[in-house]
Amino acid sequence: MIRAILWDIDGTLLDFSVSEKAAIRKCFEIFGLGTCTDEMVSVYSKINSRYWHLLEDGKMSKQDILISRFREFFPLYGIDPSISEAFNDEYQLRLSDTVVFTDGAEEVINCLHGSLIQCAASNGTRVAQEGKLRRSGMDRIFEHTFISENIGYEKPDPGFFNYVISALAPVRPEEVLIVGDSLSSDMKGGFNAGIRTCWYDPQKMPNTTDMTFDHIIADLREVPPIIRMYA
Ligand SMILES: [Mg+2]
Repeated sequence: MIRAILWDIDGTLLDFSVSEKAAIRKCFEIFGLGTCTDEMVSVYSKINSRYWHLLEDGKMSKQDILISRFREFFPLYGIDPSISEAFNDEYQLRLSDTVVFTDGAEEVINCLHGSLIQCAASNGTRVAQEGKLRRSGMDRIFEHTFISENIGYEKPDPGFFNYVISALAPVRPEEVLIVGDSLSSDMKGGFNAGIRTCWYDPQKMPNTTDMTFDHIIADLREVPPIIRMYA
């Protein structure tokens, strides 16, 4: 039986690319940096993903990646990188201004409400993630909000999952299902922690790891039937 579900937030329940684009554009406006074009957003986004992987691999700290991504991005467009820290502070606040659910997400969390423990499990910053959960109303549905910055470990670190499993006791690890879009953080961490794994793969990308997952879905509406399957 599945008694608890761990939801990844960015790229799983929320469309991160929409809030990322809106936040960076707003900050360009606030800092008087001119227009941030679609091409610039896409360049930034690739740099950003690369840094988040370094965080997941434990090669860089959260604070370092937050600043370094802008330090690398700004000089490409002739912007003084010394504003990176102040820019990032504003950016974290702006990330929760625009919150858009992915396809089926709102319907699914509402449908599961009351039937099992739903939790957020995120590597985002506390400021941005708490803002997003409030604005989206998910804070009223989730019983726990597990944010790496509060726990002191990032997914996929076992420290993150050990903390979550202790917090959910007496629910046992095999009664916990993690749903997330990232192979390197959600799936790797869940797999190693011995909880049930559900890879959300809307683009139907190949599984490039040597891990096998309990479920692979392209639509979040497949989650409630999966949970019923265990009952
Ligand atoms: Mg994600």
